Amino acid sequence: MSRKILIGNGILITRDEKSRFFDKGAVCIEGERVLEAGDHALLLRKYQDAEYIDAEGMLIMPGFINTHQHIYSEFSRGMALSGKTPMTFLEILDGIWWHIDRNLALDETYYSAIACGIECIRNGVTFISDHHASFGGITGSLGRIADALQLLGIRACLAYEVSDRDGLDKRDASIAENMDFIERVHRENSNMLKGLVGLHASFTLSDETLDMCLQKNVHGAGYHVHVAEGLYDEEHCEKTYGKSVVKRLIDKGILNRDSFAVHCSHVSCDDMELLADKGVTVIHNPESNMGNAVGAPDIITMMDKGIRVGLGTDGYTNDMMESLKVANILQKHNRKLPDRGFAEAAKMCFENNAVIASEIIGEKYGAIEAGRPADVILVDYHPVTPLNKDNIDGHLMFGVSGSMTDTTIINGKVIMRHRKLVNVDEEQLLAEGREAASRLWMKL
Ligand SMILES: [Zn+2]
Repeated sequence: MSRKILIGNGILITRDEKSRFFDKGAVCIEGERVLEAGDHALLLRKYQDAEYIDAEGMLIMPGFINTHQHIYSEFSRGMALSGKTPMTFLEILDGIWWHIDRNLALDETYYSAIACGIECIRNGVTFISDHHASFGGITGSLGRIADALQLLGIRACLAYEVSDRDGLDKRDASIAENMDFIERVHRENSNMLKGLVGLHASFTLSDETLDMCLQKNVHGAGYHVHVAEGLYDEEHCEKTYGKSVVKRLIDKGILNRDSFAVHCSHVSCDDMELLADKGVTVIHNPESNMGNAVGAPDIITMMDKGIRVGLGTDGYTNDMMESLKVANILQKHNRKLPDRGFAEAAKMCFENNAVIASEIIGEKYGAIEAGRPADVILVDYHPVTPLNKDNIDGHLMFGVSGSMTDTTIINGKVIMRHRKLVNVDEEQLLAEGREAASRLWMKL
């Protein structure tokens, strides 16, 4: 019989189907799964044999989910730009992101994943969907990221960014990297590690490249692709293919029910109808859109049309509460509608991200209920104002940041307790990470 852990004496937010809430609740975990969630006193009597974790009045809630991240961006923090200041989104891509990824070797990719993974754990993120590029070391890069995240114990879905931008040999290697990794996750069939086919964006992907991906994708995995992020992508597609990016990728069979269309900053009403009709998931990354000055996608209209929109961070942060706050104010600001944005941001971050992660993992995720994967965090938040079933999201939006996470439990395993990683030597790993980051910066 597996070991039991009882986490009690905290405010329990289950996000289960009935949205059960307990002022003084508890969760019993057995092995990798939740055994029972409910009243503290009741569970304390029932599970006297369990190892006890005292939540000391903290929030007990499901871990946060990030549906679009670039792990390697961890090594860009504080990086000075050499040469001229980028004046367009394309110059930002070429001058910063592609410049980094062309120089990333496998070892540096590994340590960027270590550094990012540690930050995720410290921000209460238990599932991450990554979109990786390292044209300085393609083959085996997803495996190295998986090694790092598995060492730390985080649940992940990985994809390699296929693109024509560095020549056809590297394009072929990146297609193979996706397919080899997807083959591996199919073979392993673990709910801790999954894969999608990563694609950069329409303007760096020829029809021939898309056809190769479709032909080699024998498991029918979904695609994780940037869509009309900057206006350039949309204009390039109209000029080259005589149609919008959304229409091109839907016609090709790239965007489907299993695919992520990331950003969609420049999509028409017709495009939105198509996305809704085909059941394509859109991922919104508000800080990134603002930072790159690409314009704000109209998330409110997309959600009104029934598109499922999730929330990511796109390399900007590992704190989902930061992305949640900015998603709310960006939509209000963009549409000049003070009464909109809040519900949409909360729905993206909690409800939709949970559904998206559930479909990737292949079982219900993002709720604390019996039988579900035990990914639970304790958040050290003690407001002076009342906190109840009906105002949880308001507290999370305006009062909580990811760094208030005290304890992170993933797949039934305590990963961080009182802000200390318990299964690995965090200082040693970060010291090795600093050496890897220095090596990368020397090349830039
Ligand atoms: Zn991105």
